Amino acid sequence: MLVDVHAHIYYNYFKEKLNEIVKRAEKNNFAAIVNAGINNETNKEVLELSKKFSILKASFGLYPLEALKLNDGDIEKDLNFIVKNKNKIISIGEVGLDYNYIKNENSRQKEIFQKIISLAEKTKLPIIVHSRKAESDCIEMLESSEIKKIIMHSFSGSMKLVGKIEDNGWFLSIPANIEYSTQFQNIVDKVTISQLLTETDSPYLSPIKNTVNEPSNIINSIKKISEIKKLDNDEVEKIIFMNFQKVFH
Ligand SMILES: [Zn+2]
Repeated sequence: MLVDVHAHIYYNYFKEKLNEIVKRAEKNNFAAIVNAGINNETNKEVLELSKKFSILKASFGLYPLEALKLNDGDIEKDLNFIVKNKNKIISIGEVGLDYNYIKNENSRQKEIFQKIISLAEKTKLPIIVHSRKAESDCIEMLESSEIKKIIMHSFSGSMKLVGKIEDNGWFLSIPANIEYSTQFQNIVDKVTISQLLTETDSPYLSPIKNTVNEPSNIINSIKKISEIKKLDNDEVEKIIFMNFQKVFH
């Protein structure tokens, strides 16, 4: 069975196509799509969608860019909403640090991320981390935490940091653009398959130019990973599903 551990399946993005892409994923034998919220509004939506489609698993997050729009009181409120619903969600994410799109707010970002880390420690839920041009800080903060289950999503840091993630026993989720991205091909080559997962970040990062990304593109990721690891497709699919079960259950 296939898994997409990081996607943003919202009506706002997919409009009437949403039902169609979920149906297609069901037909393609997906076990789960981890549907990540980025703010309170989308957290509520992924929760609603998880009731409508059993394949969509709700993950609550607070994306760095979204978090910076809020004052401390509102952040508190959004994080409390996550704690209140912790039994209805599969993970915390999308969360993390982004120094690429956001400049001069590093210490504020870290302050907020630390609150989210504490929340993940408290709820014992896995955490799905975005780290753009902030990879070292992210890893350092997570290393000093007590979180056991960490997924670094679409990791674009150095191979040295990839080695650190692997040594720490964390997971790396590989996006569907592995088809052409040497960064992700190199990660798959380097890291043991028992610490790899698959994701799309739908609707973003489509492997096919000018198209909207969707979970079913993971079929091709499995082929590419099999090629690099010199294993059968079925074997790769099975191991990644087992990895998923290890993290999320
Ligand atoms: Zn994302």
